[in-house]
Formats: sequence, structure tokens, C-alpha cells
Amino acid sequence: MAAQILDGKSLAAALRAALKQKVDVLVQRGVRPGLAVILAGDEAASRVYVRNKTLAAEQVGVRSQLHEFKSDVVESTLLQKISALNADPAIHSILVQLPLPRQINAARVLEAVAPAKDVDGFHAANLGALLAGRPGAVPCTPAGVMRLLEHAGVALAGRHAVVIGRSNIVGKPLALLLLQKDATVTICHSKSGNLSEIACRADVLVAAAGRAKLVTAPMVKPGACVIDVGVNRLADGKLAGDVDFDAVRQVAGWITPVPGGVGPMTIAMLLENCVRAAAREESAS
Ligand code: NAD
Repeated sequence: MAAQILDGKSLAAALRAALKQKVDVLVQRGVRPGLAVILAGDEAASRVYVRNKTLAAEQVGVRSQLHEFKSDVVESTLLQKISALNADPAIHSILVQLPLPRQINAARVLEAVAPAKDVDGFHAANLGALLAGRPGAVPCTPAGVMRLLEHAGVALAGRHAVVIGRSNIVGKPLALLLLQKDATVTICHSKSGNLSEIACRADVLVAAAGRAKLVTAPMVKPGACVIDVGVNRLADGKLAGDVDFDAVRQVAGWITPVPGGVGPMTIAMLLENCVRAAAREESAS
């Protein structure tokens, strides 16, 4: 039997509708959540991602500001802008769109964002909180994956989860979140020699490598849950994930499509982090 499709698009729409109600309550109390986005350079894909995020923000009632910089921007200019946004009471969340131009030290820029306003959860303080199991902003893509799994009722405790990819923004935080839910977690990466052998033992297989069709049907255990985080632009201009969707869906128990799976969930989690930051500030004042 073909796999059940995990529909991130409709779950994200439901989450956004619930968030809009929370924002309405905050606005009645005099707080409109504010999101500042920093976009440096002229990457077309980044521009599309930023447009999707700011549009989604406006739709739930979050006020967004876009701060654009040319690709030759110097680091101190970005740091000054971040410092001003950190001090701005109307801004509850700051998003630095990656990648940044080559001359910029991305780690230094991300560390300049106040941890309380770090909507992406990329600051070392928030990543450390995640490692220690303490409250903090959780990176949006891993959070979105966990929400999809929870919504579908996929069992994690005692199950083997394999995450392909070890980036600080997807693979590593996702592995920690799966571990928090008592999964037995294996992280694979570009130097893992025996990827197929490990993948086919996974009850939950997450592909976050950025390699089109990396995960093929023989790599998937029958009935496994397959989550495709990858976004790859093919030669014909179409988008594809890291999973050979048509073949794998014949083997898996659950599968996410690309587009319409993890992507919309990432944006919904970003908005949740933003609204949570505004609510926290409101309750503290
Ligand atoms: P990254 O390039 O920082 O990391 C990729 C990881 O994959 C690395 O750890 C690398 O070791 C591993 N890898 C690469 N080739 C491999 C191979 N052949 N076998 C095993 N491991 C391999 O990328 P990232 O930022 O973590 O993003 C991963 C993918 O997810 C990209 O396609 C990106 O576009 C996508 N992404 C999607 C969303 C979303 O919202 N849908 C969000 C973030 C990233």
C-alpha cells in the first residue's frame, strides 16, 4: 500500500489560523508582534524565502520589516543594524536570512542577535538550551518536522531515527529533538560510508542533505516514516527533495512531499517563535 502523505501545507495553514487568534489577543492588549528580517546580497532563492516569510507574518497579524543590504555590505553595518533592532521595543524577533555574502562572518552576525529575539533559534545560547533540555527558541525546520510527526501520531520512543545531514540548523538540532522524544538516533553525513545500510534500519528516516534523490526505495525499511527536508533545484527548474518520492512512497508508511511538506511547517514554526517572543515580553512588562 502506498504511504500516507504527511501534508505540511494544510497542517501549517491550521497552525497559522490558531496563531492569528493569539495575535489578535495580543493586539487587544496593545502588543503587535514585530519581526525584522535582514536580507543581504542578491540571491534569488533568499529573496523568495524572505517574501514567503514576511507575507505569512503579515497574514497572521505580525508586523514585518525588511532591511535589505547590497552584496558588498560590510559586517559592521549588519552588526550596527542588529544592535539597533535588539534595542527596539517594537521588534520581538530578528531573522538573518542565510546565506550571507562571502565577506561576512555569519557566525558572528548570528551571535549578535539578542537570544530572546533569535526567531530562528540559531544563537549558541538557544542551541545550548536545546542541548541541555532547557526552554529557548528551537530552530524552525526541526521544530516543524517534530510537529508533523506528532500530528501524524508517528511513534518515536524506542524507535530508530536516522537523520541524514549534520548542519547546525537542521540535522543536529533535529537529532536532539528526536532524542528528547526517546528515539534512538543515528546521524549520517557526507563521510558516512555506509549510508544505505544505516538508512534501511530506520523507523524514521529524515533526509536533510541537499542532494536530489539521495534516498532511494531500497534504502527504506517497509512502513518507515520518511521525512524529506531537502530542497533542490533541478536542471529543468523544478523543485525536488532528497527523496525519490515516487519510488519511496511505495515502500514507506508515511512520507512528506516536496513542496508541501516540511517547507510550510518551517514558516509556521517561525511565526510561532515570533508570537511566543512577543507574548513573553508582554507578560514580563
Ligand atoms: P548543509 O549543506 O548545511 O548540510 C548538509 C548536510 O548533509 C551536511 O551535514 C553533509 O554532511 C550532509 N550530506 C551532504 N551530502 C551527503 C551525502 N551524499 N550523504 C550523506 N550526507 C550528506 O544543508 P542544510 O542547511 O542542513 O540543508 C539541508 C537541505 O535542507 C538543503 O536542501 C536545504 O535547502 C534544505 N532546507 C530546507 C528547509 C525547509 O524549510 N524545507 C529548511 C532548511 C534547509
